[in-house]
Amino acid sequence: MLESLRRIVHEVNAAHNLDEALTLIVDRVKPVMQADVCSVYLTDPETGEHVLMETDGLRPSAVGRVRLLPDQGLVGLVASRAEPINLDNAPGHPNFQFIASTGEAPFHGFLGVPIIRRGTTLGVLVVQQREARRYTGDEESFLATLAAQLAGSISLAEVRQRLERLDTGTLIGTVFLEGVASTRGLGIGEAVVVFPDAALDAVPDKHVSDPEAEIERFNQAVSAEVAELKKLGDQLADVLSASDRALFDAYALLLSSDSLVEGTVTRIRQGIWAPAALRHTISEFANVFEEMDDDYLADRAADIRDLGRRLLERLQQTAGRERHYPERTVLMGEEISVSQFLEVPQDRLVGLVSVHGTSASHVALLARGLSIPAVFGLQSAPLDRLNGRQVVVDGYSARVCVHPGPTLIEQYRRLAKEEAELSHELEALLDQPAITTDGHDYRLLANAGLHADVAAARERRAQGIGLYRSELHFYLRDRFPGEDEQTATYRRVLQTMAPAPVTLRTLDIGGDKPLPYYPIKESNPFLGWRGIRISLDQTDIFKTQLRAMLRASAVHPNMGIMFPMISCVSELTQALVVLHDAYRELIEDGMPVNLPRIGIMVEVPSAAYMTRTLARMVDFIAVGSNDLTQYLLAVDRNNVRVAHLYDSLHPAVLFTLNHVCRQAHAAARPVSVCGEMAGDPASALMLMGMGIDALSMSLGNLLKIKWVVRSFSYAETRGLLKEALQMDNASQVRARLNAALDERGLGGLVRAGR
Ligand code: PEP
Ligand code: MG
Repeated sequence: MLESLRRIVHEVNAAHNLDEALTLIVDRVKPVMQADVCSVYLTDPETGEHVLMETDGLRPSAVGRVRLLPDQGLVGLVASRAEPINLDNAPGHPNFQFIASTGEAPFHGFLGVPIIRRGTTLGVLVVQQREARRYTGDEESFLATLAAQLAGSISLAEVRQRLERLDTGTLIGTVFLEGVASTRGLGIGEAVVVFPDAALDAVPDKHVSDPEAEIERFNQAVSAEVAELKKLGDQLADVLSASDRALFDAYALLLSSDSLVEGTVTRIRQGIWAPAALRHTISEFANVFEEMDDDYLADRAADIRDLGRRLLERLQQTAGRERHYPERTVLMGEEISVSQFLEVPQDRLVGLVSVHGTSASHVALLARGLSIPAVFGLQSAPLDRLNGRQVVVDGYSARVCVHPGPTLIEQYRRLAKEEAELSHELEALLDQPAITTDGHDYRLLANAGLHADVAAARERRAQGIGLYRSELHFYLRDRFPGEDEQTATYRRVLQTMAPAPVTLRTLDIGGDKPLPYYPIKESNPFLGWRGIRISLDQTDIFKTQLRAMLRASAVHPNMGIMFPMISCVSELTQALVVLHDAYRELIEDGMPVNLPRIGIMVEVPSAAYMTRTLARMVDFIAVGSNDLTQYLLAVDRNNVRVAHLYDSLHPAVLFTLNHVCRQAHAAARPVSVCGEMAGDPASALMLMGMGIDALSMSLGNLLKIKWVVRSFSYAETRGLLKEALQMDNASQVRARLNAALDERGLGGLVRAGR
């Protein structure tokens, strides 16, 4: 049954539109369940009615006509209870309702399961049996599991269908794709869908202007693959048995079969680029095999997909890695990596859309740093159909509008204009101090990682760089940068900001930031080898970086160094040993370097509760609230499913931060926050109330936070903090803080428009 489940889900996922998806569902489910009827009802989101959308077994004329009220009949009962109903004699149930148009009178056995997606009931999947029969427990759980898995495919197919109708002119309007998280702002531009190398299913549809050249490129890829397979087969002749080698023969046979190659060529000739033509053909082929009852043949589907991936890799090699980015690019992908983000010329990037990831992921931080609106966790995004379309990234309501009509574009332009006016008004604060109405001052620093951010930070009068993410420089290379190269980079950063302080963070890779040339595969990357743990295991890389930093500061002494992800005293002791070794060696080499300010990032709960001890070993404490929130709440900062639980205003996070702040001050060390909280107006009120010394944030937020600081008194923020610490949950805290901002006339900082 597991195999049938996998097969059905796979086929439905590949459906081109909703009608095709629903037909596939009823066609496939009915025989697997040995039922006489299989039907799908979808719930109309506006009226709540359950509409019969497809059936195999009831009268086809009822499709689209039968609309059941929200709690009408057994279908309504399944939907309202959101649980399966399994009956051997449906007509005997008090909720049974006879509907003549379906012709369901003779059916007795009934099993209905809800189709639920992220808490919303999308519809009901029903199987029925002529004779009185109760479905077994196994059958019931099979259907329920299938419905759960199909929910995503159904919403995806629905969006695909709407896009198809827009393209053919049978639908006028805009398609909205809802996300779960975002970074604020509005971006209007053209979608560029990026996908990981060799991910065949993620390849988007694109048009080619010269099909003959594309066919040539595809044929070359096929010939190269045939030659490679032959070579591999020959090489392994002595190692593999003839039956194991048969796989290579099977691959070669598939490649020489007309249908696979010809199928792809025919599609290219219709103007589709080779990777997408290949995707369609491979999926068609694999489906045919998957449907075969013979297990051996069904397993060949995996070989076909594997072959597809191999061919795609070749096509990618011949295409080179050059991509074209239009003037107003909205970058879209299943998951956008930091390197894909950095590949787009920054003056062309107006928006970012990622199916996975959340606003706390590293690519989101980069986007925020460069004031690029972004939406994450799209519920149903047919990425293969979106490339080249006009879209609006609405970072205020976490949604993406595909094909926005003129009125909508006008509305968005007006909002964007108001946003620009607000930014313009904030410019008046450029040379004003960040001081509260009762004279308490805070240092406002910028987070940076690229040279452009540093230069911009200086222009925006940031009082320094509170967090320089050194790993970004490592992403722009295809190998670890050497000591001289790093020295030059850090020197430039220090020089640009001098004499204002700059805190360089040592390499923080791992987690969601593996380097392309240093892949780390782990099942729990955020709890694994990341940050200082890698540096302490790879002391060569670590020491090279520390030497480069020390050398850079010999000329510009405005530098501080901090270590990420410290979780215990011994890690800090070891890091300090390596630092002192690097320092001593440089002195021995005759280089006149000084020991800089040293700090640690508190971003792991254990470090938060050891703050006093750790603080005494260093000069300053910087709280990484992004990671601290994820570890305290046990919520992966990249996981869309739990994104609603990730909130730094959770009272437990506030308690912990308050504790860290007090402990650092008890050890007479300054403390800053350099996570996203520092740049969030509501959270900044909390940090101010705790008496944090400095706030380091994405540059785009700097003047907004200055406005917040200048609009409140320290005493008021202490009062707000006290109130928040009595509250039960983050949403209460946020509502209270937003109201406080609104009362002061700062509402424009937390919602779109004025
Ligand atoms: C943090 O965790 O808050 C932080 C600033 O580090 P990063 O976001 O780079 O992990
Ligand atoms: Mg961190």
